[in-house]
Amino acid sequence: ITFSLSMIGEVAQGISSIFEGAIYINDYYDFINQEEEKLNAYLNNPLIFKKEIKVENLSFQYPHSDRKTLDNISFKIKCGEKIAIVGKNGAGKSTLINCIIGLYKTTEGKILYDGVHINQINPLYLRKKISAIFQDFVRYQLSIRKNICISDIENIDNDEKINRVVKETDINSLIEKLIHGYETELGTAFSGGQELSGGQWQKIGLTRALFKESEIIILDEPTAALDPIAESDILSKFIKSTKDKTSIFITHRLGICKEVDRIIVLDNGRLIEQGNHNELMALKGEYASMFKSQSDWYH
Ligand code: ATP
Repeated sequence: ITFSLSMIGEVAQGISSIFEGAIYINDYYDFINQEEEKLNAYLNNPLIFKKEIKVENLSFQYPHSDRKTLDNISFKIKCGEKIAIVGKNGAGKSTLINCIIGLYKTTEGKILYDGVHINQINPLYLRKKISAIFQDFVRYQLSIRKNICISDIENIDNDEKINRVVKETDINSLIEKLIHGYETELGTAFSGGQELSGGQWQKIGLTRALFKESEIIILDEPTAALDPIAESDILSKFIKSTKDKTSIFITHRLGICKEVDRIIVLDNGRLIEQGNHNELMALKGEYASMFKSQSDWYH
C-alpha cells in the first residue's frame, strides 16, 4: 500500500491551502502524497497511452494476509474500450482497480501501459491520465463548484465547461433550483450547508470524474445509491458522453454490462470469464447465473 495516514495529513494541509475549510480528506488518488513523486522523480518516461493496458500474470497479497487476493490475472484493455468488472463481494474487483491505477504495488506480475511497466511511470503522469471515482469518494463541505472542480482546479472558473458536464450527469436541474447555484455550500443541516441525498452526491461524484477530462475513467460502484432506473439512465448517458475514452466500471448491477464492450468476471481473486454480454450469457457460467438472478429479482 503506497500511502499512510501521515501522508494523508500532509495532503490535507495541501488541500486546505487550496480550499479553506476542507473537512474530509481521503480523496487519496488525486491528492496522494508528494513523497512518492519525489522518490520517482527520476522516472520521466512520458506516459503514452495509445494502444492498451496489459495486465500480465498479476497477483496481489495484502500485507498480513495469508492468501493472495488476486491470483494470476491476465487481460488487456484496449484504448477506447469500455470494460465492466463484476463478481461477488470480496472477489477482488477494487483491489484489481487499485493495482491498475498504481495505488497498490503489485507483488507478482506486471501492469503495462503501452508496454511500459507501471513502476517505471511517474505517478504524476498516471494520475493526469486517469480519473477515478470510488464508492466512498469524498463529499466535501464546500460549494458545488469546488466539489466538481477539485480534480482540475485550474478550470474552476470555466463556467462553459461546468455547464456542459452538469448536463451530462443530470445534476443541472438540481443546481438550477438552488438560489446560489454553483456557489451553494454543501453540507448537512447541522453544519448549515445544503443537504444532498446519496444519489445526488453520486451525481456530483460522476460530474467530478467527467470534469477532469482524463483519457481513462474508472468508476468503482459510484452509482450504488441510485435506484436502478436512475443508475441505468445516468450510466448510459455517461457511456455515451465518454465514448472515446477508456472506461472501467465496477458494478454489482449487471444491467449496464449490456452496454460495455467486455465484461471481466472475478471469483475469489481469479479471472474466470471474459467476453461481451451475449457471449457470457451463451457460456451459461457465473455471469449468466448472476445476470439471471438479478433479472428475476427486478421483474
Ligand atoms: P466488494 O464487491 O464487496 O466491493 P471486491 O470484489 O471489490 O468486493 P476487494 O475489496 O478487492 O473485493 O477485496 C478482496 C479481498 O481482499 C476481500 O477478502 C477483502 O477482505 C480483502 N481486503 C480488501 N482490502 C484489504 C486490506 N486493506 N487488507 C487486507 N485485506 C483486504
